[in-house]
Formats: sequence, structure tokens, C-alpha cells
Amino acid sequence: MNDFNFKKSLGQNFLQDKNILENIVATANVSGNSLTIEIGAGSGNLTKEIAKVSKHVLCYEIDTRLENILDESLKDYNNIHIIFDDFLKRDIKEDIKNYEYDNLYLIANLPYYITTPIIEKIIESNLKFQKIVVMIQKEVGERFNAKPGMKEYNSLTVYLNYYFDLKKEFIVSRNCFIPKPNVDSIVISLVNKKDLLYLKDIDNFNKLLKDSFKFKRKTIRNNLKNYDLTIVEKVLNKYNFNLNTRAEDLPLIVFVDLSNNLA
Ligand code: SAM
Repeated sequence: MNDFNFKKSLGQNFLQDKNILENIVATANVSGNSLTIEIGAGSGNLTKEIAKVSKHVLCYEIDTRLENILDESLKDYNNIHIIFDDFLKRDIKEDIKNYEYDNLYLIANLPYYITTPIIEKIIESNLKFQKIVVMIQKEVGERFNAKPGMKEYNSLTVYLNYYFDLKKEFIVSRNCFIPKPNVDSIVISLVNKKDLLYLKDIDNFNKLLKDSFKFKRKTIRNNLKNYDLTIVEKVLNKYNFNLNTRAEDLPLIVFVDLSNNLA
């Protein structure tokens, strides 16, 4: 790796601390006949730890300059397959169709510049993961985990909390990476909620969330002015809110109810 030219634009900050790498993998509790997906193999530090506990590992890495490095660092493992391509362009279901597994996991130190599109893609894939453990930028982790009324609470928070029980696992200092990034990181885990609230139309729910949070400081009356405000008001009143409430104060259940009534 000595003369490797790290690309900041690809989020290339490689985690060096073996204890932390082991802890990330331990958090996922990989068990049974398992397939684990990793996004962004880098030099294979995390991949190697995953391969010790998962029957199969499927990795994505966009940077083909890492091919030789990965060949060398992972040469002792025969349960790893790396696809050198942009994860966002892949059909995950197609990529995993030849694997036989009972339990599916996702473990990754994500490239931070595409955290949101990656998470959205994972949700939209509709795959049933036993557990997802990802390291992301600390501030983004705070947002994912924010509660109504907090300034970090946004449309992605609500969207994520619709699908998952989220847990902040541990903070990782910027000093544990090469090269050292400008931000600290956090490891979070996501487990599918057992009982999803009934939603008539997921696309409608997504659009409602984006519109509700469009202008952060504006009220629901303003952000949803193109919706039927009589229906919106009726639903809000049911939960003791009104049209002057801001989206950042509304819990998940209100968005679900609004979406079902407006669908
Ligand atoms: N797993 C390694 C570790 O923990 O040290 C590297 C993690 S590094 C934060 C993110 C990795 O994702 C980089 O190796 C980068 O090249 C790769 N990457 C960036 N964009 C990607 C994309 N669209 N698809 C797949 N890999 C990507």
C-alpha cells in the first residue's frame, strides 16, 4: 500500500485498527449458513475479518487499482468474491442469486460521499438482512438516530426508522484511519422491524417525506401547500398537531397516517 495514491473523491480512508475491525464484525453476530455483503473493500482489512466468520463474502469495490493489493492481502481466503464495479449501478439480487445461504448480512465501512444513496439502495433492494452494520460519518449517524424535535431529524431519519430499529454502537476516532479524514465516525446497526406499520403506497410516503422537509424552517401548511390541506389538518389534529407544526416535530406514525389518507 506504500505508494498507493488514495483518492479522496472515492472516500478512501482505510481503517487500520485491528480491534475496531474485529468489533465491527462482532457487532453483526454473523452466524449459520451466511452470506455477507461488503461495500468498498479498500485494501481488504475489513473483508478479511468478515471472511473469518461468514461462510461467503461478496464485496464491491469501484477502484480497479486495488485489484493486485486485494489479491495479495486476501490470498489465504477462498470464500471471498470481489466485484470491481460501482455498487450503486449493480443489481444486488442478480449478484447474489447463485449463493446458497440462510442468513444475509451487510457489513461495511462506507464511502461517506454516497452514504444516503447506498442506504436507499439497500432498502429498495427489499432483501431481508439479519443485520446491517455500517460505519458512517458521526454527524450522519446522529441524523439517522435523531428523534422528533431535534434539529438533526429529517426525511431520511423518518424513512430509516420506518424500516429499521437503529442502534448507535460505537464512535471511531479519525486517528484510526489512513489517510486521516476530517471527521470522526460512528458504527451503527440496523435490524428490520418485526411489524412494519401499514403503508398504502411507499412512493407516496417517500414523496410526502421529501415535501414535508423541503424547507426546514417552514410549517407543514407551507411545505404541503399543494396537498389537500383539509385532509392534512384532520390527520394532524388527531395527534394534537396543526398546520403550523414543522415536519421536524412530527413522529413517524403521523407521516404514515398522512400518507395513507392522502394516497
Ligand atoms: N473497507 C475498507 C476499510 O474499512 O478500510 C475501505 C473503506 S473506504 C472508507 C471506502 C471504500 O469504498 C474505498 O475503497 C472506495 O474505493 C470504495 N468505493 C467508493 N465508491 C464506491 C462505489 N460506488 N462502489 C463500490 N465501492 C466504492
